[in-house]
Amino acid sequence: MTLHFLDENQEKIQWFKKHENDFIKMRQFFHENPELSKKEFATTDKINKLLESWGIKTDRSFLETGVVGLIKKGTSSKRIGLRADIDALPIDENTDLTYKSKKAGIMHACGHDGHLAMLLFAAKYLQEEADFDGEILLIFQPNEEDSAGARDLIEAGLFKKYPVDAVYAAHNFPGADVGTLLICDGPQMAGTVSIEIDIHGVGCHAAHPYKGVDPIVTAAQVIVALQSIPTRNMAATDSVIITIGTIHGGTAHNVIPETVKLTGTLRYFDPKIRELTKKRIHEITEGICTAFGARADVRLQDGYIATVNHTKETEIALKAAQTLFKAEAISTEKAPSMGAEDFGFMLADQKGSYFYIGNGPDSSTNKLHNAGFDFDDRNLLYGGVYWSVLAQYYLDNAQD
Ligand SMILES: [Zn+2]
Ligand SMILES: [Zn+2]
Repeated sequence: MTLHFLDENQEKIQWFKKHENDFIKMRQFFHENPELSKKEFATTDKINKLLESWGIKTDRSFLETGVVGLIKKGTSSKRIGLRADIDALPIDENTDLTYKSKKAGIMHACGHDGHLAMLLFAAKYLQEEADFDGEILLIFQPNEEDSAGARDLIEAGLFKKYPVDAVYAAHNFPGADVGTLLICDGPQMAGTVSIEIDIHGVGCHAAHPYKGVDPIVTAAQVIVALQSIPTRNMAATDSVIITIGTIHGGTAHNVIPETVKLTGTLRYFDPKIRELTKKRIHEITEGICTAFGARADVRLQDGYIATVNHTKETEIALKAAQTLFKAEAISTEKAPSMGAEDFGFMLADQKGSYFYIGNGPDSSTNKLHNAGFDFDDRNLLYGGVYWSVLAQYYLDNAQD
Protein backbone atom coordinates (compact mmCIF):
# COMPACT_ATOMS: atom_id res chain seq x y z
CA MET A 1 0.00 0.00 0.00
CA THR A 2 2.83 2.41 -0.69
CA LEU A 3 1.03 3.29 -3.89
CA HIS A 4 1.18 7.02 -3.39
CA PHE A 5 4.35 7.47 -1.38
CA LEU A 6 7.76 8.32 -2.80
CA ASP A 7 10.49 5.87 -1.83
CA GLU A 8 12.08 8.42 0.51
CA ASN A 9 10.51 8.84 3.96
CA GLN A 10 10.45 5.07 4.52
CA GLU A 11 11.45 5.32 8.15
CA LYS A 12 8.64 7.71 8.91
CA ILE A 13 6.08 5.72 6.91
CA GLN A 14 7.10 2.51 8.70
CA TRP A 15 6.45 4.17 12.06
CA PHE A 16 2.96 5.16 10.92
CA LYS A 17 2.30 1.67 9.53
CA LYS A 18 3.29 0.12 12.84
CA HIS A 19 0.61 2.17 14.62
CA GLU A 20 -1.99 2.25 11.85
CA ASN A 21 -4.32 -0.38 13.34
CA ASP A 22 -4.49 1.46 16.67
CA PHE A 23 -5.64 4.60 14.92
CA ILE A 24 -8.16 2.76 12.73
CA LYS A 25 -9.69 1.37 15.93
CA MET A 26 -9.61 4.83 17.45
CA ARG A 27 -11.32 6.40 14.41
CA GLN A 28 -14.00 3.71 14.52
CA PHE A 29 -14.52 4.37 18.22
CA PHE A 30 -15.20 8.04 17.44
CA HIS A 31 -17.52 6.95 14.61
CA GLU A 32 -19.48 4.75 17.02
CA ASN A 33 -19.80 7.58 19.54
CA PRO A 34 -20.70 10.73 17.60
CA GLU A 35 -21.73 13.97 19.29
CA LEU A 36 -23.54 16.99 17.89
CA SER A 37 -22.05 20.48 17.57
CA LYS A 38 -21.31 22.16 20.93
CA LYS A 39 -22.08 18.84 22.68
CA GLU A 40 -18.72 17.18 21.95
CA PHE A 41 -18.03 16.54 25.66
CA ALA A 42 -16.99 12.86 25.57
CA THR A 43 -15.12 13.40 22.29
CA THR A 44 -13.17 16.27 23.87
CA ASP A 45 -12.41 14.20 27.00
CA LYS A 46 -11.13 11.32 24.89
CA ILE A 47 -8.92 13.54 22.69
CA ASN A 48 -7.59 15.31 25.78
CA LYS A 49 -6.79 12.03 27.49
CA LEU A 50 -4.95 10.69 24.43
CA LEU A 51 -2.88 13.86 24.03
CA GLU A 52 -1.96 13.85 27.71
CA SER A 53 -1.10 10.15 27.59
CA TRP A 54 1.54 11.00 24.97
CA GLY A 55 2.88 13.84 27.11
CA ILE A 56 1.33 16.66 25.06
CA LYS A 57 0.28 19.77 26.98
CA THR A 58 -3.42 20.60 26.50
CA ASP A 59 -5.61 23.67 26.99
CA ARG A 60 -9.40 23.52 27.21
CA SER A 61 -9.93 27.06 28.43
CA PHE A 62 -11.50 28.56 25.27
CA LEU A 63 -14.92 26.96 24.80
CA GLU A 64 -17.02 24.37 26.62
CA THR A 65 -15.96 21.71 24.14
CA GLY A 66 -12.88 21.25 21.99
CA VAL A 67 -9.25 21.21 23.07
CA VAL A 68 -5.90 22.44 21.82
CA GLY A 69 -2.59 20.65 22.25
CA LEU A 70 0.90 22.13 22.14
CA ILE A 71 4.08 20.41 21.04
CA LYS A 72 7.23 22.48 21.43
CA LYS A 73 10.76 21.45 20.51
CA GLY A 74 13.95 23.46 20.20
CA THR A 75 14.16 27.21 20.69
CA SER A 76 12.41 28.78 17.67
CA SER A 77 9.31 30.85 18.37
CA LYS A 78 7.80 29.88 15.02
CA ARG A 79 4.38 28.25 15.48
CA ILE A 80 2.12 26.40 13.04
CA GLY A 81 -1.55 25.62 13.74
CA LEU A 82 -3.17 22.40 12.51
CA ARG A 83 -6.93 22.24 12.81
CA ALA A 84 -9.33 19.28 12.85
CA ASP A 85 -13.09 19.57 13.34
CA ILE A 86 -14.68 17.06 15.74
CA ASP A 87 -18.49 17.32 15.56
CA ALA A 88 -21.11 15.02 14.03
CA LEU A 89 -24.50 15.63 12.37
CA PRO A 90 -28.19 15.07 13.20
CA ILE A 91 -28.50 12.21 10.68
CA ASP A 92 -29.70 8.65 11.35
CA GLU A 93 -26.89 6.38 10.13
CA ASN A 94 -27.91 3.87 7.48
CA THR A 95 -24.97 1.45 7.21
CA ASP A 96 -24.13 -2.13 8.19
CA LEU A 97 -20.77 -1.17 9.67
CA THR A 98 -19.64 -3.08 12.75
CA TYR A 99 -18.85 0.33 14.27
CA LYS A 100 -22.12 1.97 13.25
CA SER A 101 -23.22 4.93 15.39
CA LYS A 102 -24.62 3.85 18.75
CA LYS A 103 -26.70 7.00 18.91
CA ALA A 104 -29.98 7.12 17.00
CA GLY A 105 -30.21 10.26 14.89
CA ILE A 106 -26.53 11.27 15.23
CA MET A 107 -23.69 10.25 12.95
CA HIS A 108 -20.27 11.24 11.65
CA ALA A 109 -21.55 11.81 8.12
CA CYS A 110 -18.93 14.43 7.22
CA GLY A 111 -15.85 12.43 8.24
CA HIS A 112 -14.82 14.62 11.16
CA ASP A 113 -14.12 11.36 13.06
CA GLY A 114 -11.42 10.77 10.44
CA HIS A 115 -10.15 14.35 10.53
CA LEU A 116 -9.58 14.26 14.27
CA ALA A 117 -8.01 10.78 14.14
CA MET A 118 -5.59 11.84 11.36
CA LEU A 119 -4.46 14.78 13.47
CA LEU A 120 -4.11 12.62 16.58
CA PHE A 121 -2.00 10.17 14.57
CA ALA A 122 0.32 12.99 13.47
CA ALA A 123 0.37 14.40 17.02
CA LYS A 124 1.69 11.16 18.49
CA TYR A 125 4.43 10.99 15.86
CA LEU A 126 5.38 14.66 16.21
CA GLN A 127 5.56 14.36 19.98
CA GLU A 128 7.33 11.02 20.27
CA GLU A 129 9.52 10.73 17.16
CA ALA A 130 9.92 13.92 15.16
CA ASP A 131 12.77 16.37 15.24
CA PHE A 132 11.90 20.02 14.65
CA ASP A 133 12.52 23.50 15.94
CA GLY A 134 9.38 25.42 16.83
CA GLU A 135 5.87 24.82 18.09
CA ILE A 136 2.85 22.95 16.75
CA LEU A 137 -0.63 24.01 17.89
CA LEU A 138 -3.11 21.16 17.48
CA ILE A 139 -6.60 22.64 17.26
CA PHE A 140 -9.43 20.16 17.86
CA GLN A 141 -12.29 22.48 17.01
CA PRO A 142 -15.93 21.94 17.99
CA ASN A 143 -19.08 23.08 16.23
CA GLU A 144 -18.03 23.25 12.58
CA GLU A 145 -21.38 22.03 11.28
CA ASP A 146 -23.78 24.23 13.21
CA SER A 147 -22.62 27.72 14.08
CA ALA A 148 -18.98 28.51 13.33
CA GLY A 149 -16.94 27.10 16.19
CA ALA A 150 -13.88 28.49 14.38
CA ARG A 151 -15.19 32.02 14.85
CA ASP A 152 -16.05 31.27 18.49
CA LEU A 153 -12.50 30.02 19.13
CA ILE A 154 -11.00 33.18 17.61
CA GLU A 155 -13.36 35.38 19.64
CA ALA A 156 -12.43 33.40 22.76
CA GLY A 157 -8.80 34.42 22.14
CA LEU A 158 -7.21 31.31 20.62
CA PHE A 159 -4.76 33.21 18.41
CA LYS A 160 -4.17 35.92 21.03
CA LYS A 161 -2.98 33.33 23.52
CA TYR A 162 -1.23 31.22 20.88
CA PRO A 163 -0.30 33.39 17.88
CA VAL A 164 0.49 31.29 14.82
CA ASP A 165 2.53 32.04 11.72
CA ALA A 166 0.11 29.96 9.67
CA VAL A 167 -2.85 27.66 10.20
CA TYR A 168 -3.93 24.68 8.08
CA ALA A 169 -6.99 22.43 7.89
CA ALA A 170 -7.98 19.36 5.88
CA HIS A 171 -11.28 17.89 4.73
CA ASN A 172 -11.91 14.52 3.15
CA PHE A 173 -13.27 14.71 -0.38
CA PRO A 174 -15.53 12.11 -1.99
CA GLY A 175 -14.79 12.34 -5.70
CA ALA A 176 -11.02 11.83 -5.64
CA ASP A 177 -9.02 8.62 -5.03
CA VAL A 178 -8.13 7.75 -1.45
CA GLY A 179 -4.84 9.29 -0.41
CA THR A 180 -4.72 11.95 -3.12
CA LEU A 181 -4.20 15.50 -1.95
CA LEU A 182 -5.98 18.46 -3.52
CA ILE A 183 -4.12 21.64 -2.68
CA CYS A 184 -5.32 24.77 -4.47
CA ASP A 185 -4.77 28.48 -4.10
CA GLY A 186 -7.59 31.03 -3.74
CA PRO A 187 -11.29 30.46 -2.93
CA GLN A 188 -12.14 26.95 -1.71
CA MET A 189 -15.57 27.17 -0.11
CA ALA A 190 -18.30 29.75 -0.41
CA GLY A 191 -19.65 32.26 2.09
CA THR A 192 -23.32 32.11 3.07
CA VAL A 193 -26.18 34.47 3.76
CA SER A 194 -29.52 33.17 5.03
CA ILE A 195 -32.60 34.56 3.32
CA GLU A 196 -36.01 35.03 5.00
CA ILE A 197 -38.80 36.78 3.17
CA ASP A 198 -42.36 37.33 4.44
CA ILE A 199 -44.82 38.51 1.82
CA HIS A 200 -47.91 40.09 3.35
CA GLY A 201 -51.05 40.32 1.24
CA VAL A 202 -54.72 40.65 2.13
CA GLY A 203 -56.59 37.41 2.71
CA CYS A 204 -59.95 36.76 1.05
CA HIS A 205 -62.17 34.15 -0.63
CA ALA A 206 -60.41 32.27 -3.42
CA ALA A 207 -63.38 33.00 -5.68
CA HIS A 208 -63.06 36.78 -5.16
CA PRO A 209 -59.31 37.50 -5.45
CA TYR A 210 -59.94 41.11 -6.55
CA LYS A 211 -61.13 41.80 -3.00
CA GLY A 212 -57.71 40.99 -1.52
CA VAL A 213 -54.01 40.88 -2.38
CA ASP A 214 -52.69 37.41 -3.24
CA PRO A 215 -49.30 36.74 -1.61
CA ILE A 216 -48.98 33.37 -3.39
CA VAL A 217 -49.05 34.90 -6.87
CA THR A 218 -46.69 37.63 -5.62
CA ALA A 219 -44.30 35.05 -4.10
CA ALA A 220 -44.23 33.14 -7.37
CA GLN A 221 -43.09 36.30 -9.20
CA VAL A 222 -40.46 37.03 -6.56
CA ILE A 223 -38.99 33.51 -6.67
CA VAL A 224 -38.60 33.59 -10.43
CA ALA A 225 -37.27 37.16 -10.52
CA LEU A 226 -34.58 36.45 -7.88
CA GLN A 227 -33.00 33.98 -10.31
CA SER A 228 -32.29 36.89 -12.67
CA ILE A 229 -29.71 38.26 -10.20
CA PRO A 230 -26.91 35.79 -11.03
CA THR A 231 -27.49 36.00 -14.77
CA ARG A 232 -28.49 39.65 -15.23
CA ASN A 233 -26.72 41.55 -12.44
CA MET A 234 -23.42 39.63 -12.31
CA ALA A 235 -20.72 38.78 -14.79
CA ALA A 236 -20.77 35.11 -15.75
CA THR A 237 -17.44 34.73 -13.91
CA ASP A 238 -18.85 36.03 -10.58
CA SER A 239 -19.96 32.94 -8.70
CA VAL A 240 -23.24 33.36 -6.89
CA ILE A 241 -26.12 31.00 -6.07
CA ILE A 242 -29.55 31.98 -4.76
CA THR A 243 -31.77 29.10 -3.68
CA ILE A 244 -35.22 29.46 -2.17
CA GLY A 245 -35.50 26.23 -0.21
CA THR A 246 -38.87 26.58 1.51
CA ILE A 247 -42.19 28.21 0.65
CA HIS A 248 -45.03 28.18 3.13
CA GLY A 249 -48.45 29.79 2.74
CA GLY A 250 -52.10 28.97 2.77
CA THR A 251 -54.42 26.74 4.74
CA ALA A 252 -57.19 25.75 2.34
CA HIS A 253 -57.82 25.40 -1.40
CA ASN A 254 -60.50 28.08 -1.37
CA VAL A 255 -58.72 30.72 0.71
CA ILE A 256 -56.22 33.35 -0.39
CA PRO A 257 -53.89 33.59 2.62
CA GLU A 258 -52.56 36.69 4.37
CA THR A 259 -48.89 35.75 4.24
CA VAL A 260 -46.35 33.61 2.41
CA LYS A 261 -42.99 32.85 3.99
CA LEU A 262 -39.90 32.00 1.93
CA THR A 263 -36.51 30.90 3.21
CA GLY A 264 -33.32 30.23 1.30
CA THR A 265 -29.60 30.66 1.05
CA LEU A 266 -27.18 32.85 -0.86
CA ARG A 267 -23.67 31.52 -1.64
CA TYR A 268 -20.76 33.67 -2.84
CA PHE A 269 -16.96 34.05 -2.77
CA ASP A 270 -16.45 37.80 -3.08
CA PRO A 271 -17.85 40.11 -0.35
CA LYS A 272 -18.56 42.77 -3.01
CA ILE A 273 -20.78 40.27 -4.84
CA ARG A 274 -22.47 39.40 -1.55
CA GLU A 275 -23.37 43.04 -0.94
CA LEU A 276 -24.59 43.59 -4.50
CA THR A 277 -26.72 40.42 -4.34
CA LYS A 278 -28.25 41.43 -1.00
CA LYS A 279 -29.11 44.86 -2.41
CA ARG A 280 -30.76 43.29 -5.47
CA ILE A 281 -32.75 40.79 -3.35
CA HIS A 282 -34.19 43.74 -1.42
CA GLU A 283 -34.92 45.79 -4.54
CA ILE A 284 -36.53 42.97 -6.54
CA THR A 285 -38.59 41.58 -3.65
CA GLU A 286 -39.79 44.95 -2.37
CA GLY A 287 -40.37 46.27 -5.90
CA ILE A 288 -42.48 43.29 -6.98
CA CYS A 289 -44.44 43.32 -3.73
CA THR A 290 -45.19 47.02 -4.15
CA ALA A 291 -46.27 46.45 -7.75
CA PHE A 292 -48.66 43.70 -6.63
CA GLY A 293 -50.01 45.68 -3.69
CA ALA A 294 -48.31 43.46 -1.15
CA ARG A 295 -45.69 44.25 1.47
CA ALA A 296 -42.35 42.51 1.94
CA ASP A 297 -40.24 41.88 5.05
CA VAL A 298 -36.78 40.84 3.85
CA ARG A 299 -34.26 39.58 6.40
CA LEU A 300 -30.77 38.70 5.16
CA GLN A 301 -28.30 37.41 7.73
CA ASP A 302 -24.61 36.89 7.00
CA GLY A 303 -23.42 33.38 7.92
CA TYR A 304 -20.05 31.76 7.19
CA ILE A 305 -17.58 33.80 5.18
CA ALA A 306 -15.79 32.33 2.17
CA THR A 307 -12.78 30.08 2.76
CA VAL A 308 -9.96 31.62 0.73
CA ASN A 309 -6.46 30.12 0.75
CA HIS A 310 -3.34 32.28 1.00
CA THR A 311 -0.85 31.88 -1.85
CA LYS A 312 2.43 31.49 0.02
CA GLU A 313 1.05 29.10 2.64
CA THR A 314 -0.64 27.03 -0.09
CA GLU A 315 2.67 26.80 -1.94
CA ILE A 316 4.36 25.54 1.22
CA ALA A 317 1.66 22.86 1.63
CA LEU A 318 2.20 21.84 -1.97
CA LYS A 319 5.99 21.67 -1.64
CA ALA A 320 5.66 19.63 1.56
CA ALA A 321 3.33 17.23 -0.26
CA GLN A 322 5.84 16.87 -3.11
CA THR A 323 8.46 15.61 -0.67
CA LEU A 324 6.11 12.78 0.38
CA PHE A 325 3.80 11.79 -2.46
CA LYS A 326 4.24 10.87 -6.11
CA ALA A 327 3.13 13.57 -8.53
CA GLU A 328 -0.01 11.68 -9.58
CA ALA A 329 -1.27 11.76 -5.98
CA ILE A 330 -1.31 15.56 -5.86
CA SER A 331 -3.75 17.84 -7.67
CA THR A 332 -3.92 21.62 -7.79
CA GLU A 333 -6.97 21.57 -10.03
CA LYS A 334 -10.00 21.19 -7.77
CA ALA A 335 -12.80 23.64 -8.55
CA PRO A 336 -14.07 25.73 -5.60
CA SER A 337 -17.24 24.45 -3.93
CA MET A 338 -20.38 26.46 -3.14
CA GLY A 339 -20.55 24.54 0.14
CA ALA A 340 -19.44 26.38 3.29
CA GLU A 341 -16.80 25.79 5.97
CA ASP A 342 -16.08 27.81 9.09
CA PHE A 343 -12.30 27.54 8.58
CA GLY A 344 -12.83 30.66 6.43
CA PHE A 345 -12.90 32.64 9.71
CA MET A 346 -9.44 31.33 10.61
CA LEU A 347 -8.11 32.20 7.14
CA ALA A 348 -9.55 35.71 7.45
CA ASP A 349 -7.74 36.09 10.79
CA GLN A 350 -4.47 34.28 10.01
CA LYS A 351 -2.47 33.17 6.99
CA GLY A 352 -2.97 29.58 5.97
CA SER A 353 -4.50 27.04 3.65
CA TYR A 354 -7.30 24.47 3.48
CA PHE A 355 -6.74 21.27 1.52
CA TYR A 356 -8.60 18.07 0.70
CA ILE A 357 -7.75 14.39 0.88
CA GLY A 358 -9.62 12.09 -1.51
CA ASN A 359 -12.16 9.74 0.07
CA GLY A 360 -12.68 7.56 -3.01
CA PRO A 361 -14.90 7.92 -6.09
CA ASP A 362 -18.27 9.58 -5.70
CA SER A 363 -21.06 7.00 -5.24
CA SER A 364 -24.64 6.90 -4.00
CA THR A 365 -23.37 6.79 -0.42
CA ASN A 366 -19.86 8.28 -0.67
CA LYS A 367 -21.19 11.80 -0.28
CA LEU A 368 -20.74 14.18 2.63
CA HIS A 369 -23.86 14.40 4.85
CA ASN A 370 -25.24 11.13 3.41
CA ALA A 371 -26.66 8.55 5.87
CA GLY A 372 -24.47 5.87 4.24
CA PHE A 373 -21.21 7.84 4.30
CA ASP A 374 -18.02 6.58 5.93
CA PHE A 375 -14.50 7.99 6.18
CA ASP A 376 -11.97 5.73 4.43
CA ASP A 377 -9.57 4.45 7.10
CA ARG A 378 -6.66 4.21 4.62
CA ASN A 379 -6.53 8.00 4.85
CA LEU A 380 -5.41 7.80 8.47
CA LEU A 381 -2.00 6.71 7.19
CA TYR A 382 -1.86 9.13 4.25
CA GLY A 383 -3.31 12.08 6.17
CA GLY A 384 -1.40 11.33 9.37
CA VAL A 385 1.97 11.19 7.59
CA TYR A 386 1.17 14.29 5.55
CA TRP A 387 0.16 16.37 8.59
CA SER A 388 3.48 15.52 10.23
CA VAL A 389 5.44 16.28 7.04
CA LEU A 390 3.63 19.59 6.57
CA ALA A 391 4.27 20.70 10.17
CA GLN A 392 7.98 19.85 9.99
CA TYR A 393 8.41 21.27 6.48
CA TYR A 394 6.72 24.50 7.50
CA LEU A 395 8.85 24.97 10.60
CA ASP A 396 12.03 24.16 8.63
CA ASN A 397 11.31 26.22 5.54
CA ALA A 398 8.82 29.06 5.97
CA GLN A 399 10.50 32.46 6.03
CA ASP A 400 9.15 35.23 8.21
ZN1 LIG B 1 -20.24 18.78 7.01
ZN1 LIG C 1 -17.13 18.56 7.28
